Amino acid sequence: MTHLSFSTYKPVRWLLAFIGGLAGEGSVIDWVANHRKHHAHSDQEGDPHSPHDGPWWSHIFWLSWWHGSEAHAAHIKRWVPDLVKDPVLRWIGAMFLPSHFLVAGILAAAGYAYGGWWMAASFVVWGVFVRLVFVLHSTWFVNSASHMWGYRNYETTDDSRNNWWVALITYGEGWHNNHHAQQRSAAHGHRWWEIDVTYMTIRLMQFCGLAWDVVQPEPKRTTPATDR
Ligand SMILES: [Zn+2]
Ligand SMILES: [Zn+2]
Repeated sequence: MTHLSFSTYKPVRWLLAFIGGLAGEGSVIDWVANHRKHHAHSDQEGDPHSPHDGPWWSHIFWLSWWHGSEAHAAHIKRWVPDLVKDPVLRWIGAMFLPSHFLVAGILAAAGYAYGGWWMAASFVVWGVFVRLVFVLHSTWFVNSASHMWGYRNYETTDDSRNNWWVALITYGEGWHNNHHAQQRSAAHGHRWWEIDVTYMTIRLMQFCGLAWDVVQPEPKRTTPATDR
């Protein structure tokens, strides 16, 4: 949605946006706005989450800042005018918090049916709290670790790095230097061993007729730059 790396049917797009919200990182509209701003100012003044402002800032503390509702409205208008036009996406964004209570309720009901209250509590703890801690930290590592540690295939103007362990826990997002170099490419892994489960999923969707116009990496730009 941020980079228009592939096209799909609107209901699939909405479903993916809803599932994305379950990662616990705010409304889809806010997420895309922050991410586009990150690309426009990567590791420069204006980047919402650069390790230049401190590793912990880029990992977690940038999220604790609220700039006021006026600044937020201007931020949304500036970065995601396309997304706010879609009333369904706005609704999905507004459902961000309730959706987590919905998931917790479903898990509690399933756990209770399976093994009483103790199992209900267990399902909620593992399915909501433990899962969210893991998902949040793994994706936050893209902003922190993948801008500090790893190797570079491309000379970009930011400090983005390809980091194998971040790629492993984020299904390919950790090949972040590749992503900054070729932002529209659906594939984040550009060398044969840079495994990218997200791209495999998009290819599977394409195979099933659920995705098209899948943007490929530019072959002439895949020659490695000097590693550093
Ligand atoms: Zn980045
Ligand atoms: Zn991006």
